[in-house]
Amino acid sequence: MAARLIDGRAAALELRSRIAHEVATFRAATGRAPGLATVLVGEDPASAVYVRSKGKATREAGMESVSHNLSADVSEAELLALVGQLNRDTGIDGILVQLPLPTHIDSAKVIAAIDPAKDVDGFHPINAGKLATGAADALVPCTPLGCLHLLKREMPSLAGLDAVVIGRSNIVGKPMAMLLLGESCTVTIAHSRTRDLPGVVRRADIVIAAVGRAEMVRGDWVKPGAILIDVGINRIDAGEGKTRLVGDIAFAEASEIAGAITPVPGGVGPMTIAMLLRNTLVAACRRAGQEEPGGL
Ligand code: NAP
Repeated sequence: MAARLIDGRAAALELRSRIAHEVATFRAATGRAPGLATVLVGEDPASAVYVRSKGKATREAGMESVSHNLSADVSEAELLALVGQLNRDTGIDGILVQLPLPTHIDSAKVIAAIDPAKDVDGFHPINAGKLATGAADALVPCTPLGCLHLLKREMPSLAGLDAVVIGRSNIVGKPMAMLLLGESCTVTIAHSRTRDLPGVVRRADIVIAAVGRAEMVRGDWVKPGAILIDVGINRIDAGEGKTRLVGDIAFAEASEIAGAITPVPGGVGPMTIAMLLRNTLVAACRRAGQEEPGGL
């Protein structure tokens, strides 16, 4: 393997310990802990695992974690009422409604009901608009923010580099592209209708793969020395009745050509939770009129 391994677990641990330190400062100054409320609708096992691990990480950082578990048949009106109650709760700084929601609930309506100042997922249209217009007080979606953090550890200045983001979701692809544009990269957003994706990727100094297709990006698509950030999480058959997780990038092939690459697991995933803690702390500082921690 020629590429440097970008260790997301180590970066996330480092960030979480800095956040815990800042949380202690916040508590000393305000007499309360930052509070995160998570809302889980239904019993999807993967979503339940995500919500539990977010709650655990929140408590480990010294913050308050409040979880609301609603049954899968809760009405949209009841969910909106809970969001309204959390918006008004002065002890809650961040609200996270775990997606996806059951199909009888309009996710966009629920996201739009969250107070933008407590929208620690950064999915509210106000925060998306602030990110797009370069406003300093945007709350930015956690996964792309984590990717940017990893990139900047590799290369503090990204200005002028060619970046290709594969995927255009509101959760990962689009905000990622906005962040890279903010770093003065030349950004291409690729998607399922892109022509000659291998040719597009071959021009890139930075590749962010956020597709959800196991090992789609092959080694011979990669420009020598490029930095590869793999957001994809795909479970594949590993034989003998077992499964394993792989990313959207064919790791073994690509790591022979790239300059640096994130593994799956252990790359972007741990950063997402660290950035949720970061956003909750930032939201708490803004709401309490405290200085925001720098460099997180
Ligand atoms: P998504 O909403 O399904 O979006 C996937 C994007 O990939 C779409 O824009 C789609 O294009 C594009 N795409 C699909 N097939 C393609 C192809 N053959 N060539 C080029 N582009 C193609 O997914 P997402 O929510 O952004 O998540 C993407 C991946 O990241 C998933 O594996 C997800 O599990 C993972 N993820 C990981 C984390 C983490 O913490 N590590 C967080 C979030 C997501 P169209 O728009 O044209 O359909």
